[in-house]
Amino acid sequence: MGLLSLGTPLVWDEAKKYADHVRTHGITQFLHIWDCLKDRQGDELLWGDEIEYMVVSFDDVEKNAKLSLRQTEILAKLNAIVDDISADCPKSIAVPKFHPEYGRYMLESTPGAPYTGSIPDLLSRAICAIGVNDAFWSDFALIGSRRNLARKHLKPNEVPMSFTSFPRLGVPGQFTEPYFDPSDAISSHSLFLPEEITNPHARFPTLTANIRRRRGSKVAINLPIFLDENTPRPFIDPTIPWDRNLYPEDPEAKLGAALPDHIYMDAMGFGMGCCCLQLTFQACNVTEARRLYDGLIPIGPIMLALTAASPIYRGYLADVDCRWNVIAGSVDDRTEEERGLKPLKENRFRIPKSRYDSVDLYISEQWMNRPEYNDNPLPYDEGIYDRLRKHGLDDLLSKHISHLFIRDPLVIFSETIDQDDTSSSDHFENIQSTNWQTLRFKPPPPNSGIGWRVEFRSMEVQMTDFENAAFAVFIVLLSRAILSFNVNFYMPISKVDVNMGRAQKRGASTSGKFYFRKDVYTTSHSSATSAASTSGTSSPVDGCSSPRKKEKKLRNCFPAPPPPEDGLFNRLPVEEEYEEMTMQEIMNGKGPNFPGLLPLVDAYLDTLDIEPPHLERIQKYLNLVRRRSDGRLLTAATWIRDFVTSHPDYKKDSVVSQTINYDLLVAVDEIERGVRTTPGFLPADYEGGNRDRGSIGL
Ligand code: ADP
Ligand code: MG
Ligand code: MG
Ligand code: MG
Ligand code: MG
Ligand code: MG
Repeated sequence: MGLLSLGTPLVWDEAKKYADHVRTHGITQFLHIWDCLKDRQGDELLWGDEIEYMVVSFDDVEKNAKLSLRQTEILAKLNAIVDDISADCPKSIAVPKFHPEYGRYMLESTPGAPYTGSIPDLLSRAICAIGVNDAFWSDFALIGSRRNLARKHLKPNEVPMSFTSFPRLGVPGQFTEPYFDPSDAISSHSLFLPEEITNPHARFPTLTANIRRRRGSKVAINLPIFLDENTPRPFIDPTIPWDRNLYPEDPEAKLGAALPDHIYMDAMGFGMGCCCLQLTFQACNVTEARRLYDGLIPIGPIMLALTAASPIYRGYLADVDCRWNVIAGSVDDRTEEERGLKPLKENRFRIPKSRYDSVDLYISEQWMNRPEYNDNPLPYDEGIYDRLRKHGLDDLLSKHISHLFIRDPLVIFSETIDQDDTSSSDHFENIQSTNWQTLRFKPPPPNSGIGWRVEFRSMEVQMTDFENAAFAVFIVLLSRAILSFNVNFYMPISKVDVNMGRAQKRGASTSGKFYFRKDVYTTSHSSATSAASTSGTSSPVDGCSSPRKKEKKLRNCFPAPPPPEDGLFNRLPVEEEYEEMTMQEIMNGKGPNFPGLLPLVDAYLDTLDIEPPHLERIQKYLNLVRRRSDGRLLTAATWIRDFVTSHPDYKKDSVVSQTINYDLLVAVDEIERGVRTTPGFLPADYEGGNRDRGSIGL
């Protein structure tokens, strides 16, 4: 997460004095990048995923599953091993990288180098393998998956698990290995989480403490609890140490921060300690990056609902299935004034959302982006906006940046206050990378050779590599379909936010409805020649001159076509352009002008010339997504929920006990390895992380 500078972090009272300095120089740095790279063209499609793991330490005697706090040692070991493998490997094999994350039990893994648009790269991602190219297929069976690489070098009772939220994070008693007492939580002042839950690198405790200090209280997250037959009503949580008197904020719970019938959480670790699955794409130029960013905005909540995987918090079943609001609340540094609880005096803006939330603005200048779609309140820094406009930036990008820049920098290192704004982007990144939103528009780092990129950030991490592969492959292909067919997913961004709320509700994927656009084709005649019904030829609307021959590679550089001459593209009032749809309809189609996301991907695949075994493999992944979307297979959240409620120890009181948690995580590990079958959750032919690889026939 974000950049890890080294140095002496400033406490909030000191840091805030430099807020304007960081913003001003951050904008100077951005403008430098803009001037150098706004016309940069022709970057190829590169992409990469980030998968977060939590290391779980199993105690088979006590029947407890705990979080292993050995991140520092584990990372040192893994990185040494990775260096060794790299030294022994041909250059073409990109050995994975492991990175620190917020939780001291977390590991983030990325490919060692981004993938290209080649189909073997797509498939190598598909097995979470260490990168390969055609010539080295055989090597990757030897090297194996990132998960297995990590696993091999942990203690025998430790397992890297791609699990979104640890069910018993913050319960009374021991949930970490080793045990630490929450009374030592000098950064968060949490009633539940010890200081040692947080990565010790200065950035993380400082971020935690400065969010609390800036806000003027601890963060307060209240998730509705799943009220079961025997859950006391009202539910007043007996595990909250209501009367603790150690830190000045201790009385907050009693004074109203902790709501009845809710699971109360009071620290950054509850949110930033969740794991997720993210994907970054390089575009060929800034214009394409802006189109892709906009195209993926309405997809954010849909994929959140479909990947829902986190129904348990602090030992209780929640009435939501996703982590999103937990993380949003866990880093919400807004003051009471900014949250609208008091008139503005010290602060400059009323801010409707946390720094971690859904994006507020479509930013493409393409004709499909009607101004009416940007209907969210958008506080932005007018001084910065004016500066950007005077420099020649357009309205939308200026608003995007000046909206991000209403935030204060939270962590400033005294050694890096003064920077060379032509070679550094640290001040820009300081604000940019602490706006944690559903999509991130990533300008190229200065002097890097990297292009304009877009990051897709809403998905929950899935329990098996197979599922993570499936969702990654789906989004990679969907992003290509959006660009190459130039489909139009625009709808008012406020409706995307309504979807974000709905996506997190229990069972949203099967019983929820989401707003979505009814006609996604961009020309008035396109339904006849629609993407989904033209197979084998290039799309008529992809902006390329003549029909392309089938190609092997995924690619970028699809120029947006000019608006249709008949002007019919905006014939409907905005409110008539969208309607409520089920997940099944959004994914598989509804009506003549909306083929559904999966058929769009299939139509895109038809334009490629993929070897039959590779195509078969891709279809296996898409089939998982399809079956999740039409309810034939359960979401992870529903499967977890069912596991808990059907466990013999479950007392129908919402409590996920130590034993239930242990059995759950043992089961998840066994499922991942293919030792335990789970009809209704994974396809019948799922063989487990290890054997899965073999079945590609490599
Ligand atoms: P952050 O944590 O800021 O999102 P990371 O560096 O952890 O960023 O991960 C970025 C992802 O982007 C990784 O999956 C990496 O493989 C990928 N990536 C790196 N360079 C490029 C590039 N030029 N284009 C697209 N993706 C890239
Ligand atoms: Mg991360
Ligand atoms: Mg990362
Ligand atoms: Mg990072
Ligand atoms: Mg990321
Ligand atoms: Mg595996």
